[in-house]
Amino acid sequence: MDFAGGSLWCNCSRNKVEVQIKGQSAHNHVCGCTKCWKPKGALFAQVAVVPRDRLQVVANADKLAIVDSKATIQRHACKECGVHLYGRIENQAHPFYGLDFIHTELSREQGWAAPEFAAFVSSIIESGASPDGMAAVRARLHELKLEPYDCLSPALMDYIATHIAKRSGALRA
Ligand SMILES: [Zn+2]
Ligand SMILES: [Zn+2]
Repeated sequence: MDFAGGSLWCNCSRNKVEVQIKGQSAHNHVCGCTKCWKPKGALFAQVAVVPRDRLQVVANADKLAIVDSKATIQRHACKECGVHLYGRIENQAHPFYGLDFIHTELSREQGWAAPEFAAFVSSIIESGASPDGMAAVRARLHELKLEPYDCLSPALMDYIATHIAKRSGALRA
């Protein structure tokens, strides 16, 4: 795995925001929540993480604004086209602090890690998907080898719970 990374671009036709990522992304997955950015008409977003020190805004940073500054993940979006360039957690106590959330489909480079699972699948109903279609959606995700979960994958849920248990003292740090 010596993929070097690449640039993410917003959808503006000119003066695109450019974000440079050094190295490969991790935990790429599709996400059905209502907060992640997705292309128009898509049921799922595709989202991965990179260490925050591997991410740098290199062009048109002035076009970025935080979508919701009270959200756990502060999503930095282009004010003109609405694309989310990256999401950042500023709460140092959060299990995912230090990781930025990115959409590698915004890159022209080939070689990014493929999605591994589907998160928050039931949440697509909150965006207007029919509850009657959920069996078909989950069957299609299975076909694509994207195991559907209604929260995060067991590995990531365990990671979060371990972090919380070490902080509370329920597990020895
Ligand atoms: Zn834009
Ligand atoms: Zn999401």
